[in-house]
Amino acid sequence: MYERHHFVGGKEVEGTSGRFGPIFNPSTGEQAGKVALATKAEVENAIATAEAAFPAWSGTSVVKRARVLQDLVQILYREKDALAAALSSEHGKVFSDAQGDVQRGLEVAEFAQGIPHLLKGEYSDNVSTGIDMYSMRKPLGVVAGITPFNFPAMIPLWMSCVAIACGNTFVMKPSEKDPTVPLMFAKCWKEAGLPDGVFNVINGDKESVDTICTDPRVKAVSFVGSTPIAQYVYATATAHGKRCQAMGGAKNHMLIMPDADLDQVADALIGAAYGSAGERCMAISVAVPVGKAVADKMVEMLKPRVEELKVGHSMDPLAEMGPLVTADHLAKVRGYIDLAETEGSDLVVDGRAFKYNMQGYENGYYLGGTLLDNVKPGMRSYKEEIFGPTLQILRTESFEEALRLPSEHEYGNGTSIFTRDGDTAREYANRVEVGMVGVNVPIPVPLAFHSFGGWKGSAFGDINQHGMEGVRFYTKTKTVTSRWPTGIRAGAEFVIPTLNG
Ligand code: NAD
Repeated sequence: MYERHHFVGGKEVEGTSGRFGPIFNPSTGEQAGKVALATKAEVENAIATAEAAFPAWSGTSVVKRARVLQDLVQILYREKDALAAALSSEHGKVFSDAQGDVQRGLEVAEFAQGIPHLLKGEYSDNVSTGIDMYSMRKPLGVVAGITPFNFPAMIPLWMSCVAIACGNTFVMKPSEKDPTVPLMFAKCWKEAGLPDGVFNVINGDKESVDTICTDPRVKAVSFVGSTPIAQYVYATATAHGKRCQAMGGAKNHMLIMPDADLDQVADALIGAAYGSAGERCMAISVAVPVGKAVADKMVEMLKPRVEELKVGHSMDPLAEMGPLVTADHLAKVRGYIDLAETEGSDLVVDGRAFKYNMQGYENGYYLGGTLLDNVKPGMRSYKEEIFGPTLQILRTESFEEALRLPSEHEYGNGTSIFTRDGDTAREYANRVEVGMVGVNVPIPVPLAFHSFGGWKGSAFGDINQHGMEGVRFYTKTKTVTSRWPTGIRAGAEFVIPTLNG
């Protein structure tokens, strides 16, 4: 059984708490390792280490900082498969999808290579006689990232690449369910030439999170996880004077208009609902056909495909979907299927009946794809996030009725519409109360140079992840007003300076 500890000050540091969390291999159902859970003092030591590294790193030229990112990109490409294999064994997503997880994070590292361009600031010459005004973007200091289990590569890279390229030093607190990949990143950063102490990884649970959110030396907290914890982190970090962005859960709807290409829709739904066993914050979990004919046709098309989904060991190249992350999470998702049935949904395909019958992996946390029809807006199984391989069909009669569903839902992360009509697509994109919208694209995850963030219960705080928004989050503006040349005498002024030439 392997052990995972911390990485602080450029080296691996053994945990001293004596407390560990289990790391499972979801494909086999066995405990594969354990992760040290840090004490408050250990977290404080990581913060102190990052604080000590800040003056030199923030004082390093922007170009030298960018070159570290350039080297990191090359190393991440070299290590991509090793990272993906480690990720797949702890998370359970299939290897090809794990490669995608690394790749989407890598793209943020690629974006961050060009961050000097975005740190340029503004300059106004001669705003008054002999007076120039300029603003610049300064790093904040020590910043922290707290991440969920479901994207153990992409999300730590979203945060750390932008923060570090902007000149901050970083304390990473990964999910205790799959801590290996962020520790591998620490070695990649070091090999890329990042000075010791700039990127630190501390493994832990609530005690670590609370320390990060309350320690005055941490200037900003970036969080991604479930909504209750996002709210808690946002409230705690902001109450302690920190900048905070906290992304939460999701319930993403796909509208299917009568004129949509239904073959394209079926392909899109199968991938977006069941890929990564539905454990994606941008998974489509609700299909909203408009009109009975579309709904009936969709059920007819989806049923055999859901029944035939290839569920298997995450490293099985034939598997389309791996197991869920833990036995607890499997039980939770099964509980939601029980609830949906009790509430009166029609179980078109029941994933609970699925039996994994290959190669002795019966103890893995497997669940078959589940398809539920005739779901109603009042049902708890519709209102809450399930986060599993379940697709709920909510039938509607009109575009307006369909538009109201995602708009009025507590969550507002992503949504998509499938139609051949440009007017309808444009109207939907403009009016829907959701942060990220796809038009004939099922999972509209913005690329690194745009920014990622939902609305309503899916995100707390005003500034999104990566892109220019990420640069804003990890920097503060300083504006300088300067009078040159010397020798200009304005005399003592007792009124606020105004623009009088
Ligand atoms: P989680 O909220 O359980 O854990 C996230 C982080 O919070 C982990 O690092 C964990 O250690 C910490 N944490 C857990 N309980 C805590 C507590 N009581 N106090 C303080 N810290 C605590 O989330 P998860 O199960 O790891 O991830 C899945 C969730 O993340 C889903 O809800 C999913 O929708 C969401 N998610 C959202 C986005 C987004 O961008 N909106 C992206 C990915 C995942």
